[in-house]
Amino acid sequence: MNFKDYITIVPDWPKPGIKFKDISTLMDNGEAYRAATDEIMKYAKDKEIDIIVGPEARGFIVGCPVAYALGVGFAPVRKEGKLPREVIKVDYGLEYGKDVLTIHKDAIKPGQRVLITDDLLATGGTIEATIKLVEELGGVVAGIAFLIELSYLDGREKLEGYDVFTLMTY
Ligand code: 5GP
Repeated sequence: MNFKDYITIVPDWPKPGIKFKDISTLMDNGEAYRAATDEIMKYAKDKEIDIIVGPEARGFIVGCPVAYALGVGFAPVRKEGKLPREVIKVDYGLEYGKDVLTIHKDAIKPGQRVLITDDLLATGGTIEATIKLVEELGGVVAGIAFLIELSYLDGREKLEGYDVFTLMTY
C-alpha cells in the first residue's frame, strides 16, 4: 500500500509557510488505518514490548490499536493538568516558548520494555520529552514508531541510539 496516498498536505496550516501533513484521511479509511497499524505491529512484535506510551493526541491514535493487537497496555502522556493522579513532568521546547508533558507516576514499572508511538517526527522535541518521562520511571525504550518523519527537520539526531521506525518520509 502506498501510505502517502492517504495523507493530505494542507498548505499554510496552522501558520503561513507550513505544509501540514494531515493523517486524518489515513485514519478515516479502515483499510489504510489497519494496514498502517499492522506495519507498526510487525516492527514491534519481536521487541518483547510490555507497554506502549504515546503523547496526546495523535500518539494515542497510532499507539492504541497497536496495544490492542499486541495485547499490551497503553499509557498516555498528556499536557499539564490533564492527568488526575500523581504525575512526573518534563519541560520541552516549542518553536516559540515552552510546554510541559506529564505521565502518571505509576504508569510504567522499572524495567518494563516500552514502545513509544506518535504520528509524526518533526524536530523531535515531543518524543525527546516522552523518552525522558519513560526513562525517569525506569522504563526501557525498546522502540519508537511514527507514521511520518520530516527528514529535513533532523529530528532523528535527537533520537540517536534509539531504535526508530517510520512508515513514510518527507
Ligand atoms: P516535534 O516535537 O517533533 O517538533 O513535533 C512533532 C509533534 O507535532 C507531533 O506530536 C505531531 O503530532 C505534531 N506535528 C507537527 N507537525 C505536524 C504535521 O505536519 N502533521 C501532523 N499530523 N502533526 C504534526
